[in-house]
Amino acid sequence: MEKIKIAFYDSKDYDKESFINSNVNDEFEITYLETRLSVDTYKLAEGCDVVCVFVNDDVNSEVIDKLHKMGVKLIALRCAGYNNVDIEYAFGKIHVVRVPAYSPYAVAEHAMALLLTSIRRIHKAYIRTRDFNFSLNGMTGFDLHGKTVGVIGTGKIGRIFIDICRGFGMNIIAYDKFPAKDSGIEYVELDELFERSDIISLHCPLTDESLHMINADSIEKMKKGVAIINTSRGALIDSEALLEGIKARHIGAACLDVYEEESNVFFHDYSNHIVNDDTLARLISMPNVIVTSHQAFLTKEALSNIADTTLNNVREFFEKDTCTNEVCYKCSNLANCNQAHDKKCF
Ligand code: NAD
Repeated sequence: MEKIKIAFYDSKDYDKESFINSNVNDEFEITYLETRLSVDTYKLAEGCDVVCVFVNDDVNSEVIDKLHKMGVKLIALRCAGYNNVDIEYAFGKIHVVRVPAYSPYAVAEHAMALLLTSIRRIHKAYIRTRDFNFSLNGMTGFDLHGKTVGVIGTGKIGRIFIDICRGFGMNIIAYDKFPAKDSGIEYVELDELFERSDIISLHCPLTDESLHMINADSIEKMKKGVAIINTSRGALIDSEALLEGIKARHIGAACLDVYEEESNVFFHDYSNHIVNDDTLARLISMPNVIVTSHQAFLTKEALSNIADTTLNNVREFFEKDTCTNEVCYKCSNLANCNQAHDKKCF
């Protein structure tokens, strides 16, 4: 039987290793491409059945048209979020699958790692002690015990983050568009969450509705000294407003694993370049801002789950009528989507 051909965009050494080591790898012929998928690079998928993409590949309507004409049948996201794919435009042309959960623990634990690093000044201490500077001036932090954390989005990652915070003896309040019933979580309106939280952590998807949910107005409502953690998607925060809030000493700490313009810089080494993004440069220059480059997912367990689920998604798509991890723009209301009847979305 002929192998299913996959064009694997934006591949890194760690991706390649986990896909090669996956025990479902035998049925596929994978071309690993370092470049991202865009209108300039779609042709590299010529002759392939599947394109496999990650968070910063730009799968817009033009790219979808080109891939469709070339005979590509499936867009296999190796991540959970799908805001970078025009799923409404893809409907009826190319199916889209994703990895809904690979390790929610990886992301939730990274969110807490960023928070602890920031408020206990670990990033400063690491550099100081390497230079034999053992002074404690400027290193005063605060206890998490007894503080109120506002969690926005109580899905898989948000719920694990809540459990971690409970372990620290924190008070939890949350906002979710679809609150989880019988969860024992205290849900409040967004404004109340902004007003009461000492720490705010974002765990909801990026949609038209959630775009810039942290903006100048919402920052104004927050407590002075609030710490904001974003391990979800960059554009949930208006970065200019965040910067102004930090400059005004209103925001006490920002822990960012994602950034709204990250696709221009993240996952690349620009240490020998002049970075053109003034907002990012100014944010990074702040002593109370920590930036990691979308690395919250990056654990051995998550990489292995991503590889296995992605390849199983592809296999299921070509071998069966079902497509368990398919997403389409109708899926948010399953009654309107074929998925509810155990079929492909279209
Ligand atoms: P999930 O689908 O399990 O949970 C998302 C929750 O957000 C749901 O409870 C949903 O009801 C809620 N929600 C939807 N729209 C909302 C809105 N407008 N306001 C408030 N809540 C809303 O998803 P998850 O697995 O917990 O992942 C959460 C997000 O984390 C993903 O959307 C993705 O963007 C991000 N993520 C980041 C990384 C990383 O490496 N940094 C890795 C994986 C996922």
